[in-house]
Amino acid sequence: MAQYYKIKQQHPDTILLFRVGDFFETFEEDAKIASKVLGITLTKRSNGAAEDVPLAGFPHHAIDAYLPKLVRAGYRVAVCEQMENPKFAKGIVKREVIEVVTPGVTLSDKLLDHKKNNYVLGVFVKDDLVGLSFSDISTGEFYVYETKLDQLSEQIQLINPSEILYHKRDKDYLTKILSKINPEIRLTKIEDWIFNFDYTNEMLLNHFKTVTLKGFGIDRLQNGIIAAGIVLHYLQETQRVNLSHLNKISIYNPSDYMILDYSTKRNLEIITSMQEGTREGSLISILDKTQTAMGGRLLKKWISAPLRDVNAINQRLNAVENLIKEKSLRKDLINQLKEIGDLERLISKVCTGRANPREIIAVKTSLKKIPVVKELLNKLSDSTLKKVGDSLKDLTELVEKISDAIIDSPPASLTEGGIIKSGFSPELDELREIAFHGKEWISNLQQKERERTGIPSLKVGFNNVFGYYIDISNAHKSKVPADYIRKQTLVNSERYITPELKTFEEKILHAEEKIGELEYQLFNEIRNLVALEAESIQTNARLIGMLDVFLSFAECAEEYNYVKPEVDEGNEIEILQGRHPVVERILSPGEKFTPNDCKLNNSDQQIILLTGPNMAGKSVYLRQVGLIVLLAQIGSFVPASKAKIGIVDRIFTRVGASDNITAGESTFLVEMQEAANILNNATSKSLILLDEIGRGTSTFDGISIAWAITEYLHENPDVAAKTLFATHYHELNEMADLFPRIKNYKVEVREYDDKVIFLHRVNPGRADHSYGIQVAMMAGLPVFVTNRAKEILNNLESKELTPYEVKKERLKKLKSETDNQISLFEFKDDELRTEIKNLELNSLTPIEALNKL
Ligand code: ADP
Repeated sequence: MAQYYKIKQQHPDTILLFRVGDFFETFEEDAKIASKVLGITLTKRSNGAAEDVPLAGFPHHAIDAYLPKLVRAGYRVAVCEQMENPKFAKGIVKREVIEVVTPGVTLSDKLLDHKKNNYVLGVFVKDDLVGLSFSDISTGEFYVYETKLDQLSEQIQLINPSEILYHKRDKDYLTKILSKINPEIRLTKIEDWIFNFDYTNEMLLNHFKTVTLKGFGIDRLQNGIIAAGIVLHYLQETQRVNLSHLNKISIYNPSDYMILDYSTKRNLEIITSMQEGTREGSLISILDKTQTAMGGRLLKKWISAPLRDVNAINQRLNAVENLIKEKSLRKDLINQLKEIGDLERLISKVCTGRANPREIIAVKTSLKKIPVVKELLNKLSDSTLKKVGDSLKDLTELVEKISDAIIDSPPASLTEGGIIKSGFSPELDELREIAFHGKEWISNLQQKERERTGIPSLKVGFNNVFGYYIDISNAHKSKVPADYIRKQTLVNSERYITPELKTFEEKILHAEEKIGELEYQLFNEIRNLVALEAESIQTNARLIGMLDVFLSFAECAEEYNYVKPEVDEGNEIEILQGRHPVVERILSPGEKFTPNDCKLNNSDQQIILLTGPNMAGKSVYLRQVGLIVLLAQIGSFVPASKAKIGIVDRIFTRVGASDNITAGESTFLVEMQEAANILNNATSKSLILLDEIGRGTSTFDGISIAWAITEYLHENPDVAAKTLFATHYHELNEMADLFPRIKNYKVEVREYDDKVIFLHRVNPGRADHSYGIQVAMMAGLPVFVTNRAKEILNNLESKELTPYEVKKERLKKLKSETDNQISLFEFKDDELRTEIKNLELNSLTPIEALNKL
């Protein structure tokens, strides 16, 4: 226990798995957590004279099942192993922590999702500037940059890390940010003294074996360097292995990407669907036809961070177009990619000394495909694809070396032998000869001794205690020759050895032991050879990932009938016959998706007010416009018959009643916070999708707020974003008469026999009917209730002043107030205009000016 406490002290804030013989044990608080999370029994261990210590443990071989559970529950887990064979230990067995596995730092296949990066993010805040650095140890990526403090929340959403490393000073600030965006991100405190420029700078220089960080272009990022140092320190501290696969650090430039905050990602159901929270029903589930893990991860990255650079987007689009045209080449490429393993993660395992023989074979099989892919790419005309082909590294020499050395289907274990091919090492072949012929020798000996003694049942056997022996049953006891030495007496037989047998035994056992050692050593040599090519293999992995995503886009475009969007710097979004990429795929058989056009620009149609009853298709329409823009900007073809997309810098969404009320905030407050965020951050290059706003309060409040927000978006040139606004407030339609860039659209429905038929067609105009009762009937509300509702509605409508008219009155008043304020620009009175124009502003005294006003 003293040893345990000492080690535990060095690893506070972790669950310590302490190896004791065949078990991993946890003690005290750790044991309580482990028993709860793992569902294992909590017992007690008598701690000598002191009180009982809570204890929970599991058999050591179950670690692969239990450790991931703890990490997934958000804990950091330190694995403490026995470092010597207890048989030979003097006193207490030596123990050491060999690895700390955390949510953001792991190489374990059991914890990693092969379609997802697993980032750990270091944050260093100084004054108004934040240094940020993130890395995925399983793929070798390592980035650094700096940003303004008020951008921090946005940046965390962009990177989406599993774990954040912080200075204790920043805890409250970060906790607050995370509570709003994703409370599940693990926060890990790093000791103060590490946040030191000289220390972290030195550490980075040592790691990259350079004398300056200029070559990476990061030498001026003082805060960034500290953040990067924190990340590297944490990786070294937890992994305790060679991190040579982290061979470069790059600057990350967030302004290259379109910003999609968490709520937009969720509302547009890009990565997960809203209802289930799973991949199914999300955009990525429709779009992912990738063959490799690298492609899967890259697609997720691209989809979460669309581009803003027209050239970069068009390069992607052209590559996809070329692949669509060359169908047979495309199919060939896809078939090659099918056999390429997760090179990125394999090479990380190789460099950290964790790759087993099967994984080296996976590297070989994957690399073997590279020259074939290169050749295929060479046949294509697109320059991006050609460049991918040219940049792929042909590592045939390495492939041959692995081929010569390692058998084609080796065991996963390193210690059982049977890894190295014969003919590779003369020394190994010789040892194997001895070991192999040993068996033959034994059977010869058995034959020879049977003949010599005349005992037909004489057997040569082997056990761990006595080694090789000759077994003679009691019936033949009298025939045992004099040179046999008796070793063991059993019920029915006796066992003997001979000097000849013992000499042989020594030789053969020695050979077997040496074979194991030698194979391990040779395997390590090969593994190191692979590690030497880490950089080339990482390059290949990156390029194959990219090619894989292009191929996936091409497959989708063909299968789903997408078109190439025209992307430019302009201010126009024009979509003809657009469709929702997910909804069109999951309609029930027999249903057909109704395509719709959309035109938005900054000159005559900036804001579209969309009305129509519930279930008409308003949300689908809003989202489909957002998704088409997003698809175009990741370089994918789009579901439409034609699309022209002027680059969008950011998509904002504000959708229905949000379920983000966990933080104890009311729905309305959350809604207003989201609206505030939009109005404060939108630019004329943004796209805003508003699905109902102001519904969480009284109707008049709601209308007023919705009106004012819309007006602000129209009148303020800095935030004049293209906006689609779906609303139930038909009153807002009047804005179209007052503001030139606001237009009314409606989703068409037909009323037939007391039922509504949804046409899902979006046309210019205003809806005048809500059909609430009809929709309620369709939803199965009891007939009694719907009939009564109709009655009440009739009553209300026949009264002199219906609630609707009350609203109208209020609105008129509101409008007249607004008119007084803004009408200066709308003014049609020419006399007044002339008077204003003729004012001699330079000679006007302040009091005259006031009087004029
Ligand atoms: P709203 O937001 O107006 O209440 P939704 O946009 O949620 O309505 O649409 C309701 C349902 O109508 C969707 O779930 C979908 O099944 C169907 N739908 C919507 N738009 C279309 C369309 N263009 N073509 C076919 N079906 C559609």
